[in-house]
Amino acid sequence: MRQSSLVVVANRLPINDNVALDGACEWRRSPGGLVSALHPLLRHTPATWVGWAGGTGPAPTLPDVDGVRMHTVPLSSEDLRDHYEGFANATLWPIYHDAVEQPEHHRRWWDAYQRVNQRFAEATAQVAEQGAVVWVQDYHLQLVPGLLRALRPDLRIGFFLHVPFPPPELFMQLPRRAELLHGMLGADLVGFQRAQAAHNFAQLVTKVLGLPATDRRIAVEDRIVRIGAFPVSIDTAEMAALADRPEVADRARRLRHDLGSPEQVILSVDRMDYTKGIEQRLKAYSELLEGGHVKVRDTVLVQVAVPSRERVGQYQILRDRVEREVGRINGEFGRVGEPAIHYLTQPFDRTELAALYRIADVMAVTPLRDGMNLVAKEYVAARVDDAGALLLSEFAGAAAELSQAYLVNPHDLEGLKQGLLAALRAEPADVRARMQAMRAYLREHDIRAWARSYLSTLDQSGLLLTRLG
Ligand code: UDP
Repeated sequence: MRQSSLVVVANRLPINDNVALDGACEWRRSPGGLVSALHPLLRHTPATWVGWAGGTGPAPTLPDVDGVRMHTVPLSSEDLRDHYEGFANATLWPIYHDAVEQPEHHRRWWDAYQRVNQRFAEATAQVAEQGAVVWVQDYHLQLVPGLLRALRPDLRIGFFLHVPFPPPELFMQLPRRAELLHGMLGADLVGFQRAQAAHNFAQLVTKVLGLPATDRRIAVEDRIVRIGAFPVSIDTAEMAALADRPEVADRARRLRHDLGSPEQVILSVDRMDYTKGIEQRLKAYSELLEGGHVKVRDTVLVQVAVPSRERVGQYQILRDRVEREVGRINGEFGRVGEPAIHYLTQPFDRTELAALYRIADVMAVTPLRDGMNLVAKEYVAARVDDAGALLLSEFAGAAAELSQAYLVNPHDLEGLKQGLLAALRAEPADVRARMQAMRAYLREHDIRAWARSYLSTLDQSGLLLTRLG
């Protein structure tokens, strides 16, 4: 087997396989973003990506993508049920997102989590050359750094968590908390989206494992594990160029016309997930309609809510609740040919999304908790006209960077209503100044800057970085 000096390990391969087992669309956001971030580096380095290709049959042999070797890890339907839908998305996901839904604990799920992580670690050990840099991604694979170090102590191992890392009192609920922390500490560098997450992690390793830790370094036996915040970003220039294309401007004009040429468009784009605050937002909008603060004739809400993880019970219940509420609001406030909410569940491609971003006078991104929220950053990047107001939850990772957004607490219904109204009624000059500041920030802090900053901290020899440019 050919070996690589750089190995990226993620639950999914960065391939265009949009249909998950349950028929739901799985967005290729994180792997997709990673590909563009790492592209310059991957072109000059023999790199391999280790991940699941989708499906439950034998692992297919895949062609290289942009010169990057695809190394498939097979998963059975039991693995998917117990590792992906179970431990990853019904135990860890709710705990990591403030337990806004009740996390479930099953010993069978933990067994599957260990088994699948072991398989990923073994696959990685096979394809990494002596002394290679390995970058493990996200909460599905938290045990991989530790398991991999046991197999291959020669490797330089990084781990990055794309989702939030919870405060100690929540993490302490996990029956296998010590094993999970040990798994992450197998890395040389553990990266988080926000400084608070690194702080939570440092506190936990001291509390649970008794290790001395600061928010930057942890002493583990004879090693030092570095920790820190590396907020992920987007390909800002690419989104801006796409949004600036004449056909996107045409499409945006047509969309606005199809919406009945309203004075103002409010847009929300979410995965159908209980962390996204969709129900709270609908309630705020409904009360604004009821109070006569917003008129269906003048303002429309476009809510894109793409179903995901549909075999997990909580997601089915959420979808039913959201659809009932949209039906109620449209029934109560809509008029013939003028619904109060344009509710769309089909996934949009990037061009269509860019057109939607361009017609959104207010982009409402109000999750209850979110690791980053790339939609917020994409919206800013797409506003090449410097117009448009971003209404952003304080609990999205993006709020730590996009401080010029109109910030709201989505748990505070009155605050949410006031925030929406403030964004709708803001002075164009204020909107413009805020958008310009956020765009300037994202031009500098793009996905390449993210990868460079993470890898330069991980790879202290600097060899990879000279290739990243
Ligand atoms: N997205 C998409 N089509 C859609 C809706 C969303 O391609 O119809 C993309 C969106 O552009 C963004 C990603 O899905 O890149 C969502 O990432 P985010 O961080 O906002 O949320 P996540 O789904 O990862 O929780």
